[in-house]
Amino acid sequence: MTERTNWLKEEVQNLKDQNLFGELPVMETPAGPRIRINGKDVITLSSNNYLNFTNHPRVIAAAKKAIDDWGFGTGAVRQINGTMTIHNELEKELAEYKGTESSLVFVAGIAANRGTIQALMGPEDAIISDELNHGSIIDGVRLTKSDRKIFPHNDMEGLRKALQETKGARRRLIVADGVFSMDGDISPLDQIVELAEEFDAMVMVDDAHGDGVLGREGRGIVDHFGLHGRVDIDMGTLSKAFGCVGGYIAGDQELRDYLTNRARSFIFTTAHPPAIVQACREAIKIIQDEPEHHKRLWDNTKHFQEQMKDLGFNTGRTQTPITPVIVGEASKAQELSKRMWDEGVFVKPIVFPLVAKDMSRIRANVTAGHTKEDLDECVEKFAKVGKAMGLI
Ligand SMILES: *Cc1c(COP(=O)(O)O)cnc(C)c1O
Repeated sequence: MTERTNWLKEEVQNLKDQNLFGELPVMETPAGPRIRINGKDVITLSSNNYLNFTNHPRVIAAAKKAIDDWGFGTGAVRQINGTMTIHNELEKELAEYKGTESSLVFVAGIAANRGTIQALMGPEDAIISDELNHGSIIDGVRLTKSDRKIFPHNDMEGLRKALQETKGARRRLIVADGVFSMDGDISPLDQIVELAEEFDAMVMVDDAHGDGVLGREGRGIVDHFGLHGRVDIDMGTLSKAFGCVGGYIAGDQELRDYLTNRARSFIFTTAHPPAIVQACREAIKIIQDEPEHHKRLWDNTKHFQEQMKDLGFNTGRTQTPITPVIVGEASKAQELSKRMWDEGVFVKPIVFPLVAKDMSRIRANVTAGHTKEDLDECVEKFAKVGKAMGLI
């Protein structure tokens, strides 16, 4: 390190002094419901591996075969000579699954959000965004010079007001998470679409936590509400329920055509390796021909959440496998997480600025990979720790 970067030492120390510094927890095992992390065997409730596809034998086999058939890397960006037939096949199959004309896969969900919002929206336009939207949407908005309006979370009167206030814009985009990752609640996409139609605004939904979870065979929030053909930009990720990696945009052919030429996070990055592409294709097939994973996810969610509510925990407004356990002050959430860790359950505390100061929580994600016994063990530990801390 040169002296010019000494300031970094101070900044890191500042973070530590303010109790804002996080070390990266390290796993010594594959990702699954039971992992060894930071040297300890635990049940994890902190993963987005909703369908437990990270270790599905068919996903693994597809990736291995892809390496034999296609080699490892792609060596170029999609627009030059990085696109293989399998990249296009994945996009066709994904579009079919999502019920759109076409789709485009980005290297990650964050790249899909950044590149798409940046490409679509100019200085004459306005973006209207839910206050609890994901950081990658906020990044995308920041990459534009568009006018921006933030509406209160899921507040349709607030959205209407923002639409009225932006009538002068050339084009407008309403953007919202489909499932909000800190509370597990769903956006009222049916009402958003109605308002968008009334005010002639485009709609973009981020289905990162809805993919593989909501709708028939996990087709997502558009399917959940039966809004096919009425949502302009259906964004999602292959990194969570599908257990792989990648983000995508599903919509009309023209949307794909435009983004392949204008989305900087698509244009300036190397194409996904074949192993990833084939793993993603397999995951999309599995969710359709092995319905038990999706069913188990929801059975497990019900099993876990009912017991947590019966114990008297405040699980907020969740409608999905994301289960917040709201405790109030940050120190309580940190203590709950620490005590659960001591009991062999890995759940992370979520505090300000991710949530309001008096709404600190831990967030427990149920997956299809958990057995009923795993979940009962977690509930039992929550009961023990919750009583000891006076939470229930
Ligand atoms: C995780 C997440 C993303 C980013 O997806 P990656 O594929 O992990 O980059 C985008 N939006 C939301 C709402 C997310 O939860």
